[in-house]
Amino acid sequence: MQEQGLRDVLRAAEQVARAVPELDAFIRWPSSMAYNPRDRNLIAGVEELRAHPGCASALTMPLQRALIAAAEDVEWRLTYSEEEVGADFLSRFGWFELAGPHEGHFITDETRMTVGYWGPNLHYPWHLHEPEELYFIVSGEAMFEVEGQAPKLLRAGDTAFHGANQPHAMTTHDSGLLAFVLWRGAGLADPPRMGNE
Ligand code: ZN
Repeated sequence: MQEQGLRDVLRAAEQVARAVPELDAFIRWPSSMAYNPRDRNLIAGVEELRAHPGCASALTMPLQRALIAAAEDVEWRLTYSEEEVGADFLSRFGWFELAGPHEGHFITDETRMTVGYWGPNLHYPWHLHEPEELYFIVSGEAMFEVEGQAPKLLRAGDTAFHGANQPHAMTTHDSGLLAFVLWRGAGLADPPRMGNE
């Protein structure tokens, strides 16, 4: 059950990655990724994802559908503490590692691929990390902020680049946000740090 649903997600993600120039330029799609069974971890945010997935585009619809179909079987994580983001955030947010060096549902040393979901009207506070990052919006919309740049409203099919240790934040409004996120470079296994320095 888990393996088939995750293979469907990986296939849909690869189709998107090869079709979107920003994603294709950001990483070389790994030639082989071994399936790595992980215990499922169901969180409250999955109900929110079903209720408020946000609008997909023709390009992103297959990935959105595969993610919603697999959502009960993946190892969701919350990572942040209530002090950092608040209780409401933790009840309507979640992420999982689709592929990565150690703890992904598939194993690769070349990149880290995660999926994140944020319900409507959530603020993801300023944070930073060493790897470079590319967000790809699967469905919904949110205001993306990067230090030193004007905020940008992004929707399905859009991308956002964050440089190494470049602080960024994100806010959803009436719509939730489902995103496919790629990391590359040093520090792939390290968690983000809160704040902007
Ligand atoms: Zn980030």
